[in-house]
Order: sequence, then C-alpha cells, then structure tokens
Amino acid sequence: MQYTSTRDGQQAVLSSKCLLQGISQDGGLFVPVDFPAVSLEEIAQMQKESYGERAYRILSKYLTDLPEDVLKACIEKAYTKGKFSTPKIAPVRNINDNESVLELWHGPTLAFKDMALQIMPHILVAAKAQEGEKHDILILVATSGDTGKAALEGYANVEGVKIIVFYPNDGVSHMQKLQMTTQEGNNVAVYAVNGNFDDAQTGVKRIFTDAAIINELLAQNVKLSSANSINWGRLVPQIVYYFSAYADLCNSNTIKLGDKINYVIPTGNFGNILAAYYAKQMGLPINKLICASNMNNVLTEFIQTGTYNANRTFYKTISPSMDILISSNLERLLFELYERDATKVNALMANLKEKGSYAIDSEMVSKLNRTFYGGYASEEQTFKTIKDIYDKYGYVMDTHTAVAQSVYDEYLSKTNDKTHTVVVSTASPYKFPSDVVQAIDKVKMPESEAMKVLMRMGCIMPEQLMGLQDKTIRFKEACNKEDMPKVVLSFIK
Ligand SMILES: *Cc1c(COP(=O)(O)O)cnc(C)c1O
Repeated sequence: MQYTSTRDGQQAVLSSKCLLQGISQDGGLFVPVDFPAVSLEEIAQMQKESYGERAYRILSKYLTDLPEDVLKACIEKAYTKGKFSTPKIAPVRNINDNESVLELWHGPTLAFKDMALQIMPHILVAAKAQEGEKHDILILVATSGDTGKAALEGYANVEGVKIIVFYPNDGVSHMQKLQMTTQEGNNVAVYAVNGNFDDAQTGVKRIFTDAAIINELLAQNVKLSSANSINWGRLVPQIVYYFSAYADLCNSNTIKLGDKINYVIPTGNFGNILAAYYAKQMGLPINKLICASNMNNVLTEFIQTGTYNANRTFYKTISPSMDILISSNLERLLFELYERDATKVNALMANLKEKGSYAIDSEMVSKLNRTFYGGYASEEQTFKTIKDIYDKYGYVMDTHTAVAQSVYDEYLSKTNDKTHTVVVSTASPYKFPSDVVQAIDKVKMPESEAMKVLMRMGCIMPEQLMGLQDKTIRFKEACNKEDMPKVVLSFIK
C-alpha cells in the first residue's frame, strides 16, 4: 500500500515512511492511495476471532511493508490483558433494542486514545527497522488532555524514541494534569503551554515544517515524528474497532450480517470519526456517521452549512478533549470529498490559515450530508443526558460520551431513523468524576470524593487511578507558544 499527501497527490511513499515522518513535507497529511475492500465473508470470519486477530486483518491491509511476524508481535504487545482490563479490548454493551455503546476506555489511561497509542510505538519501532533508520525519533505531542497521557504511557522507555508533550495550561482536568506531570520514564518530558489547545497544536505543527529546527535536530541525530491523530499510525488502529463492534453485534444477534448501522462519535480533532468513515469506504455497512460536538460546534456548522469558521468564541467545557476549533483531520475528508484534488485542498487550507475559515459549495454539502449528520450539545444538555441515561438504564456515561448520546437523541427525534445505532464511548466516567456525579446527584464535589460515589453507583474503580495522588510531580514548567522550539532543542541537548 502506498500513501500520498492531501496537498500533493503525486507523492507516493510506503507506510513505514509516513509513520516515521508523521506529516508530509508540503504540510499535508498522508492518506492511503486507495481503501482496501473488506467483504461480508471476511466480516463473518471476524465474528469468530479475538480483537487481536481482527486487528491483524485490518492493519495488514495498510501496513503492507511490515513483515507478518513483526506486525503480529506489535498487536500482541498492545492488545493484551496486562494493558486492557477486559479480553474483549473494546466491548459493546447493548443499552436497548435500538442502541449499543462501544466502550473504548478499558486501556491504561481510561480513554479511547489508548486504542491507538498502545500499538503505535511498537509499529513505529518496526517502521524504523524497516527503513534502516539510524536516527533517534522525537515524538512531539500537542494534547487537549487524554492524548498526552496515552502517548506518554505508550512511549515511555521505548528504545530509540523520545517524547515531549505540550498541554494547554488551563485546558485539562486536575486528574489529567496529574496523570501527565507524574509520568515516569527516562525519555519523556511534559510542558504546559500558556494558551489553549489550538495554540499548543499550532506550535507543534510549526516545528514540524521549520527547516532550521529540523536541521538542528538532525545534527543531534534526531528526527521528528508525531503521535497526534494527524499521524497515520494513530488513525489506522482506530479503523479496527468499527469492524470489531460490527462483528460483535452480529454475534449477539443484535443485527444480521449486512445490516447497516449508525455510529455516533464525540468529535474533536476529527480522527475517530474519520476512521469510521474509512471503515465505511472499506465496505463496513454504515448508514450514517453522526458527528457530535460540544459548545465548540465548528463541525456542526460545517456539516450543516458547508462553512468552516474557526473565528468564534472558544469555550472551555465539561468535555475538554473536544474543545477544539481546528479539526486537523477534516483535511483528509476534504481530500476524499473533492475526489483527491490536492489543488482544491491546498486552496481551502490556505483560506483556513489566512482567514480562519473556508467554505465548500452546496453540491459538496449534499455529498457530505449523504454520510454525515452534525449536531452539538450544550453543557446543560450534557448534564441532563448523563442523568437521564443513568435513571433509565443504570448506565454511567462520561461527559464526552454524553455529548454523543445527546446528539443521538436529537437525531432520533428529528429523523425517526430506526437503524441500529452505536454510541462511541470515549472515556471512563472515572476520568471526569466530579462532573459526572454532579450531573446525577446535583452536588459538586472534589474528584476523590466523586470517585467514591461512582463506586457506590456500581462503577468499578480502575486500578490505574489508585495511588495517583501520592505520586511525585516531575514536570512543573510552563512556556509560551513562541518558546516551544527552544524547549524542544534544550530537551535534546
Ligand atoms: C480525543 C478525544 C475525543 C475526540 O476524538 P477526536 O479523534 O479528536 O475527534 C473525544 N473524547 C475523548 C474522551 C477524547 O479523549
């Protein structure tokens, strides 16, 4: 399988190269030249398989330059019992006849980013060997909270790799900050950036295309790579669970093989939902992809009107991992919408850079709406949804999942679409305990107390959180966006 860039359709590189490089030199994102087909017969075979075997089926179609035994070893190291608290890895729970929840938070950091970041370091090391790469790899991460910890957890102490995580100073929860700043490992660093997530992300993106910094790093035997969802290595493992959930729904006789389903995805950087779109392109029977946003509803507006406008108030919400105004992965969807016209993508992205906005024409909006529905939830709706679902089904949802649920409820009442629908659950309620408990009990309490209430509600306390309060804080420094290059160079020296 070859990969090309969203800004230069002529490029063609192998997967190892795009994993190592992270982002294309022209500033574009790597995309596969086509989508390998998965037949219904193959999905039927997946029904009998473990998550790891399902992962091999999907990943081997994309990472074609990695030897079979190497890829299998990567999968085995990632999706195992020691790392995930259930052998199903990504279990599906039926809520009622019409709705299921896909739980993507049974990994080490209790959020869906583990699904990709547990395997990505291993495939990166494999790609490095494949390419005969002798430089050390420096991973730069901008995080709105969950990616940071998941990447640190995945990359800590991996040989030949170093990692620096930048998070917005006031944009992450107390628990998230604690998880990151106490990270162990001899190859890691964590910095707060004075600003919001977009500042941190823009700072990281700038470093990736700055020739002076790249050369200075090369002189130190270091090459840059990214763990953000712009890296193909982050996206490709996310395709797997959309197939896996479908196979599980067939197994439980919730649907019949070939039936279409909807997925509702709480969205920020557009990575998770893009992986679902890729699954659809590969042949997974999907009817609608429902894109759920919080008050930062730039994507809702885009899907409804075709105008992407990042010039708007930035809200800090109770679903902070979705507090994003520039959804990088949308560029990959535009590339497909415009039938791989890199010139068109370049023009739109130039508008975004210069004016903070762009618009697609009405024909493209209808094309987009054939697959995508966009909606958003206010903070009150999110709180109310957590309580409603708990009261009705005894099921506790985190704030991000509740945004998705709320948008699904709205979709259902507007369309009366009876297609079986899977709400993608991206975080454990233990990740945002104060807000979850406030939603249900109407009292605001500190995280440690709220966790005890969650335990009384029947949620199992994840081992990963025990003892976090007593860990030593290793990283206390904050920097300005402009100083990020300096920070990177001083870490390497
Ligand atoms: C990252 C994250 C999201 C958003 O996913 P994208 O791939 O950025 O759209 C949603 N929920 C949680 C809990 C997350 O950590």
